[in-house]
Amino acid sequence: MKKMTLIIGAGGVGNVVAFKCAMNSNTFGDITLASRTVSKCDTIAKNVLEKTGVTLATASVDADSITELVELITQVKADIVINVALPYQDLTIMDACIQCGVDYLDTANYEHPDTAKFEYKEQWARDAEFQKANIMGLLGSGFDPGVTNVFCAYAQKHYFDEIHTIDILDCNAGDHGYPFATNFNPEINLREVSAKGRYWENGKWIETEPMAIKQVWDYPEVGAKESYLLYHEEMESLVKHIKGLKRIRFFMTFGQSYLTHMKCLENVGMLGIKEVEHKGMKIVPMEFLATLLPDPASLGERTKGKTNIGIFAKGIKDGIEKTIYIYQVSDHEKCYQEVMSQGVSYTTGVPAMIGAKLMLEGKWQGKGVFNMEEFDPDPFMEELMVQGLPWKVMELGADESREVTMR
Ligand code: NDP
Repeated sequence: MKKMTLIIGAGGVGNVVAFKCAMNSNTFGDITLASRTVSKCDTIAKNVLEKTGVTLATASVDADSITELVELITQVKADIVINVALPYQDLTIMDACIQCGVDYLDTANYEHPDTAKFEYKEQWARDAEFQKANIMGLLGSGFDPGVTNVFCAYAQKHYFDEIHTIDILDCNAGDHGYPFATNFNPEINLREVSAKGRYWENGKWIETEPMAIKQVWDYPEVGAKESYLLYHEEMESLVKHIKGLKRIRFFMTFGQSYLTHMKCLENVGMLGIKEVEHKGMKIVPMEFLATLLPDPASLGERTKGKTNIGIFAKGIKDGIEKTIYIYQVSDHEKCYQEVMSQGVSYTTGVPAMIGAKLMLEGKWQGKGVFNMEEFDPDPFMEELMVQGLPWKVMELGADESREVTMR
């Protein structure tokens, strides 16, 4: 029977998911794109129709309201809800899916608007309700989290008996020409980057000051880049699911202009997420800043350069120490040519579509709430190859590293 797909969120990532679902319409069937601002959905639907010949239905929904969501999911008769709105909406959308008995997928863990926690606790807590409703929830099906989790599962399945250390390496060498802009939602991006760093070693989380640890990694097809240790949400589930793990860290590259602007904004209080009084009105500094910054969805046309995201893993196979590096390189301009979005939205939206495709096709099945590394990585890795995110594996000697010293 023809499937019904509901996509919620019409930002940079929603645009890519809409395009890619339309390009795989045999699986996704009738597609509805809904967001708070329906005109954004209409613009995307017009572009998708022009480029692919597929017609999307559009709708307006406030995804903070479970009532509105239930009404829409019921009306659309959705088989799956792909949530690419903001992390603030994860729980309401999950609860609406439970009420309607419909499968759920997202790309980022739930966040409360007033406190940045970056944890899966509240979503994992819905596991029993998902099981009871006989539905599946797939959490974090973007690139990181998402593909990075699948890379770890693939390394575990095919290359190691035990993985001892993992470094997740996220490099965006794209240039949009603005002195300061964020490649995805500014609030979420700046919260993540300005938070304290954290990594996991020997069973414990170790906290660092923001950006306190810097290493230079040599990224294939991009070159050597200064990379900073951040906390990133996929580490929370990976420490539960990867056998024998002793340490996991996450590094992301930042240019000097980005860091200088961010420090300055932080110093003057513009990254605050608590309300302040301004001329008798209450405003949240970070929300106001997001209003001033370029819309990430508008960066596509002007961004040049490449992204390279991957995992660098060390461990043992048949008693011998080994090291592998699995990575994916995307070109911002090629992404734009294909779906009118820059590489960061593209590398998030394609895996969201692939996760949903595997669910609809019954290749990834389960009742309850799951993280990506809990499933067989092979079908996902095969889809990446054909859906626009081809990857490579580099096998290195036990002591080889991609870490370099930059003068
Ligand atoms: P944008 O800010 O570009 O878009 C967010 C969209 O969500 C907008 O269309 C907005 O609608 C909509 N939205 C916000 N609030 C509501 C609401 N209450 N009801 C309905 N719709 C709402 O964000 P991105 O596209 O850049 O990011 C989307 C998601 O992808 C985020 O959760 C982000 O954290 C995640 N992400 C994940 C990555 C990964 O690798 N895992 C990487 C990058 C992003 P409107 O404009 O109409 O208000």
